[in-house]
Amino acid sequence: MRTPIIAGNWKLNNTISEAVALTTELKGLVTDCTGVEIIVAPTFTALHAVSGVLKGSNIHLAAQDVYWEDSGAFTGEVSAPMLKDVGCDYVIIGHSERRQYFGETNESVNQKVKAALSHDLKPIICVGEQLEDREAGRTETVIEDHITGGIADLSDAQLLSSVVAYEPVWAIGTGKTATPAQAQEVHSLIRKLLTDAYSDEVASQTRIQYGGSVKPENAAELMAQPDVDGALVGGASLQAESFAEIVKSAL
Ligand code: PEP
Repeated sequence: MRTPIIAGNWKLNNTISEAVALTTELKGLVTDCTGVEIIVAPTFTALHAVSGVLKGSNIHLAAQDVYWEDSGAFTGEVSAPMLKDVGCDYVIIGHSERRQYFGETNESVNQKVKAALSHDLKPIICVGEQLEDREAGRTETVIEDHITGGIADLSDAQLLSSVVAYEPVWAIGTGKTATPAQAQEVHSLIRKLLTDAYSDEVASQTRIQYGGSVKPENAAELMAQPDVDGALVGGASLQAESFAEIVKSAL
């Protein structure tokens, strides 16, 4: 009932020509993939060129961040209408690297989510605990805090246009993947939080991706879990072949 969703977060990688080459190769590899939503998130500078390559394909474009104001004196920021204008359908919001290095908070995440939704951009809302939280038994508290803060005041329809990405911080870029059981445990907690805040019907239709060292070798097992609806992929999305293999393991 929930269409699997696989997103590649390219982070701070690729010049425009490298991004175009990666997109062109990927497009050829996934052209027959139906029944799965495919997304790539290049840097801001490559969005326009990648958008051109993606026209008419089955791959959606995402940005890696957005600002909550539409325009004005906010040097260095990029707004939701600008991302729509360049062809984005999705935007990643609240990635742990933004929380860790750029002062992103639940409040700013929530403002960005609302700005994205008001311009018909679908937010991929990232949540996840640090290693010390997990070791201290605080995983549930952190996830509840990120979820309730990030989705505060969203309507049923707005939540249904959003995607949640569970990304344990200790698994991002470390090669340490959560076990399928660990991922499922937190995904089912997130679905329960959504059920409590909305309804069973809304929660059961909301997609929850797993992210954290997803590779072709572990993607199928993770996505076989009942509450894991896809993957947010960093490192392995920088190679067209490995990302395409992950996409295919969702079919
Ligand atoms: C990410 O950036 O969201 C991520 C999960 O990275 P990696 O796959 O490299 O761990």
